[in-house]
Amino acid sequence: MLIQAESLKRIVSAILEKGGSSITESQVVADHLVRANLVGHDSHGVGMLPKYVKMLKAKLLFPNQEPEIMKKDGSIMMFDGKRGYGQAVGKIAMKKAIKKCQENGLALMTIRNSHHLGRIGTYGEQSIEAGIVSIHFVNVTDHSPYVLPYGGSDGRLATNPICLAMPGTKNTPPVLLDMATSKIAIGKARFAMNKKEILEEGLVVDHKGRPSNNPEVMSGYLYPEKEDNPPLGALTPSGEYKGSGLSLFCELFGGLLSGGGTIQPGNKRHGSIINNMLTLLINPGILVDNPWMQNEIDQLTSFYKNSPPVNPEQPVLVAGDPERFHEKERKLNGITVDETTWNQIIKDGCSLGLSHIEIKKMI
Ligand code: NAD
Repeated sequence: MLIQAESLKRIVSAILEKGGSSITESQVVADHLVRANLVGHDSHGVGMLPKYVKMLKAKLLFPNQEPEIMKKDGSIMMFDGKRGYGQAVGKIAMKKAIKKCQENGLALMTIRNSHHLGRIGTYGEQSIEAGIVSIHFVNVTDHSPYVLPYGGSDGRLATNPICLAMPGTKNTPPVLLDMATSKIAIGKARFAMNKKEILEEGLVVDHKGRPSNNPEVMSGYLYPEKEDNPPLGALTPSGEYKGSGLSLFCELFGGLLSGGGTIQPGNKRHGSIINNMLTLLINPGILVDNPWMQNEIDQLTSFYKNSPPVNPEQPVLVAGDPERFHEKERKLNGITVDETTWNQIIKDGCSLGLSHIEIKKMI
């Protein structure tokens, strides 16, 4: 299914509204999901919708939540997302933290107990828009772990993302590193399963910790209701022990310092997706002179990118470049939604009261 971003947004937003979200919330969540597709992160795009509808029906995700302030002290703001749509409560919490950073030069914001925050780069983009540097550590809980710790043979962590954002200059686009600490986000295994593709070597292991290229080893987590799932395998950490160490710090910073809790087995798991995030916001102007900083960014990024590429067809990129390329291409040509995902979305829309005809009219 090749579809333009605006049509996809209309459909997703209508389904979310049928699920009980206000118009504003439906649009915020739909914008976030479709933007993830636009910038190439299909793992965090509209393919998440079926999971959200399932969580709504299971009363593990609640529409129309406002993040509740739990602590406010100087530059610190701690929020509880109250199992609301992460894309909505996360956006509001970030907006408040950005304001705080503009006032104080620095802000430390945490949000706990938020349903899936989605593509963490979205919050990096929010701070970049305000000319603010941001650092985000996120853990993922409320379900069984499915990422190996380095050297282990079964899941003890989740895909715990980290995002680092630096505003650009008039000559240089922003640098936005937004990554899972596993080699791939779990949604990429879902995507491969839906498309009946195999994965590259080294991305997953089977239930005994043996290397595999079969995305089905993650099916027990992705589709627990399926009866013929093989025993659950795990995703591998990115950057070997370094990625595993960073993931552990997502638990410690994102999970622990937010008060949300970590993935350790003593914490109750309901089978949904809860994100806890620690965000540090810095107004670079309080530290360094702006024209000097801008010149440094321009010089550094061009020095970095001008390294002669090993493969002339693959120039050196900075984090954020691949997303910009995808966005340009997909805005022009549309977004491809795989058949399984598309059918699930339609089915969910209908289960909430939309008709096929209504959905078709929105394309
Ligand atoms: P990825 O591996 O595609 O990209 C990771 C980062 O590397 C990006 O910043 C990208 O710009 C950069 N990059 C990619 N290729 C590059 C190259 N050739 N040169 C330089 N930089 C390059 O992304 P991922 O790790 O699969 O994560 C996908 C998305 O999943 C992210 O948006 C992340 O926030 C999201 N995620 C969310 C959760 C959650 O619980 N909410 C969990 C895990 C991941």
